[in-house]
Amino acid sequence: MEKIKTLIIGGGVMGRVLAYKFRQRGCPFEVLDSGHSCAVNSMPFVSSYGIQEGLSPLGDLLVDSYKKFCQFYDEENPEGVEKVDHYILYSNQDQKLVKRFGVPRSLDFRNKTFEGHRLTSHLIRPKTFLEFLFPQNKITQHFLTTTELQKIIKEVQQQKMKIIFCSGALGHKSIEAPKSSKIVAGAYYELGLDLGAKSFIFTTEEGNLIYEASESKIFLGATSEPNEFALPDLKCLETIRGFYAQFFPELLEVKAHLKVGLRLKGSKRYPRMMKLQDGLILMDSLYKNGWSLPFSLCDKVFKLLDEIE
Ligand SMILES: Cc1cc2nc3c(=O)[nH]c(=O)nc-3n(C[C@H](O)[C@H](O)[C@H](O)COP(=O)(O)OP(=O)(O)OC[C@H]3O[C@@H](n4cnc5c(N)ncnc54)[C@H](O)[C@@H]3O)c2cc1C
Repeated sequence: MEKIKTLIIGGGVMGRVLAYKFRQRGCPFEVLDSGHSCAVNSMPFVSSYGIQEGLSPLGDLLVDSYKKFCQFYDEENPEGVEKVDHYILYSNQDQKLVKRFGVPRSLDFRNKTFEGHRLTSHLIRPKTFLEFLFPQNKITQHFLTTTELQKIIKEVQQQKMKIIFCSGALGHKSIEAPKSSKIVAGAYYELGLDLGAKSFIFTTEEGNLIYEASESKIFLGATSEPNEFALPDLKCLETIRGFYAQFFPELLEVKAHLKVGLRLKGSKRYPRMMKLQDGLILMDSLYKNGWSLPFSLCDKVFKLLDEIE
């Protein structure tokens, strides 16, 4: 029997990981996107960050996603992903981090010593990694209106096609789904600065500093704004810059460009992965783990699709 074509709405990280897996499985599909991916406006890395299994269902999902992302990295060697040193700075007083990483140790970084923990994390260059997953020129550029959507949902009901919504923050209000999600805006600074040939990440209570060596760029942040319409919190970004200037005084000498991105936060931080009706599936609300969660969620969506067939 001929397989029914699946339409993936959204060409951000969720849609493209799914497209990658569809291609591997040899299933017929099409990706449709309006060209406003929030994945592009983020400063992402993927890290285990001391999350443990067996404490909560969400923790288990995050650990599973992290493992699946690492497996993908090891097997496919994707462009746009780089393994880097990730320094977590904290003191004995920070009980939350002591619990997570253990008692801080003395670490050396370029002739400076500080207390903390060192991890290896994966730094992502969004555009390059997205292109590796599924090329932009294979995506149908189109904004699907509500009227068009209603028309194609009829085709789903007639079992002529299936739809998977991976439409992220920008698409979430056009779909009625039982568990609600809300948009949380995030702001960050981007600065052009050459800090050497090796990329690295710092994390502290204040926020993250990411150095991307191939483009000589620093990213500082990100903040979380209380709602989707809030203005970026520049005071908070300046505090982060001031904090990291103790390690890299050059940060105060270059112009910082303000960037804003959107995240979709599911109820209790859970991603939404559900069947809306037969042949209609929703996958969104990746929130802060957008670059690893799709690797777990894809397995679940293929289970759902197999059940439908
Ligand atoms: C500042 C910031 C920092 C972050 N840092 C990290 C991090 O360190 N690690 C991490 O893992 N995650 C991080 N994230 C989160 C991560 O970037 C997001 O979770 C992820 O980008 C969401 O991807 P998505 O594919 O669901 O959505 P999107 O990338 O927004 O893709 C959805 C696409 O669907 C399209 N679309 C919607 N409606 C329609 C329609 N009707 N017709 C056609 N197309 C449509 C949109 O145009 C868009 O291109 C960060 C996010 C921000 C903002």
